[in-house]
Amino acid sequence: KGLRRPLVLANWKMNMAPNEVHPYLEKVLPEIEKDTKADVAIAAQDLYLADMVRQVADSRLMVAAENAHWTDEGAYTGETSPKALAMLGVSYVLIGHFERRKLFNETDERVNEKTKAALKNGLKPIVDLDEDLSAYANVKKESVVLKQLALALKGLSETDMKHVAIAYEPTWAIGSGEAASAEQAEKSAALIRQSLANLYSRDLADNTRILYGGSVTTTNASDFLSQEDIDGILVGKAALDPDQFLKLVDLAQ
Ligand code: PEP
Repeated sequence: KGLRRPLVLANWKMNMAPNEVHPYLEKVLPEIEKDTKADVAIAAQDLYLADMVRQVADSRLMVAAENAHWTDEGAYTGETSPKALAMLGVSYVLIGHFERRKLFNETDERVNEKTKAALKNGLKPIVDLDEDLSAYANVKKESVVLKQLALALKGLSETDMKHVAIAYEPTWAIGSGEAASAEQAEKSAALIRQSLANLYSRDLADNTRILYGGSVTTTNASDFLSQEDIDGILVGKAALDPDQFLKLVDLAQ
């Protein structure tokens, strides 16, 4: 896998009560060693992020936002500025998660704008590509995910891309308890990597992290992480439990 460091990203979504955040981090922080071979981050609701950044300071654990707006500031009631996130010390931002695309009508064009805005502010975007069941199961597979990839990255330079990770998520596997097969996920990840080589260069493709997401558990995580083109995991449900999250981090070493 060359120089690609594994990335374990928890996505708490709109879960975790305010009084659960501190104990969770208190439990995991001492276990995430300074010399860990994986990058580790937790994406949480905006209103927890500033406190989380303070609590994880000087540790290897990074904080991620689940979404950010496509401009730095302005009259966008209820939205979150990527500039403000970066100023607070947030490191990563999920862009175009399936739930954003499906429930909040986020288009490929918006995903592209948000990715650019994140990069401009020094946030590291994790760009989500989703694949529905018919695309997963049939030959159209390539065009669906690769089209999303090309549109999301439109106008991004090779230098920009050094800060971008891609997450491949079959939609039916998200939160369903039914993960993709590791072989199928590897096939998609390899296609995505080849597409990055076509869009940029072999070198860039070889250095870009591609994550798998969709019902990852402590039981199946190793199957995904051992695939040649899968460099990390994006984990929802299983990561709500700090012990399971730590186990997943362990498996990524
Ligand atoms: C996700 O939030 O992207 C996700 C993959 O969730 P889960 O692990 O619960 O399927």
